[in-house]
Amino acid sequence: MTRQPSSGRIEVVCGCMYSGKTEELIRRMRQVEIARQPFRIFTPRLDTRYGSNLVASHTGRKLEAVPVSSIAEILDNVEDVQVVAIDELHFLADSPEAILEGCQQMADHGLRVVVAGLDQNYRAEPFPAMAALLAAADQVDKLFAICVRCGAYATRSQRLIDGRAAPANAPTIVVGGLDLYEARCRVCYEAAR
Ligand SMILES: [Zn+2]
Repeated sequence: MTRQPSSGRIEVVCGCMYSGKTEELIRRMRQVEIARQPFRIFTPRLDTRYGSNLVASHTGRKLEAVPVSSIAEILDNVEDVQVVAIDELHFLADSPEAILEGCQQMADHGLRVVVAGLDQNYRAEPFPAMAALLAAADQVDKLFAICVRCGAYATRSQRLIDGRAAPANAPTIVVGGLDLYEARCRVCYEAAR
């Protein structure tokens, strides 16, 4: 295995719901697979939308993934790989400091670390662990979706309850798809109250 300290890096793919983050993570890992670099994809155990042993984009592309509950579990399981991918990082329950420290540690040991996740919660506030990683990353790609209301570029995730904006005191993490979330632009986004 060719893992050199200089090849260590952190890449962050972020954006709102339906911006294609997982699709992009899968694209990068397919390239790694073709290059025969050993890699492993991790996914927080909380995200069970597509079955726990797979990462899948909304368009249906899939790769095998290892479900984990903590960054420590990831650190214990990367000895034999060159590339690490973490999907839906915002679902990891560890402190932002622990997640940042873990990713830095892997990159410092020569691993290419590719992380995908929501940059903002449904209240349009930063997810703290993602905010920290965005600052520390060697490469950042912020993707956008298309606003379902007006067709402009969307950067926010609107959570809906019975078709209306979810209240500000709702839980920050609720796993869901088209029934629960819409991509909206800055103008069409309705603030949680
Ligand atoms: Zn709009």
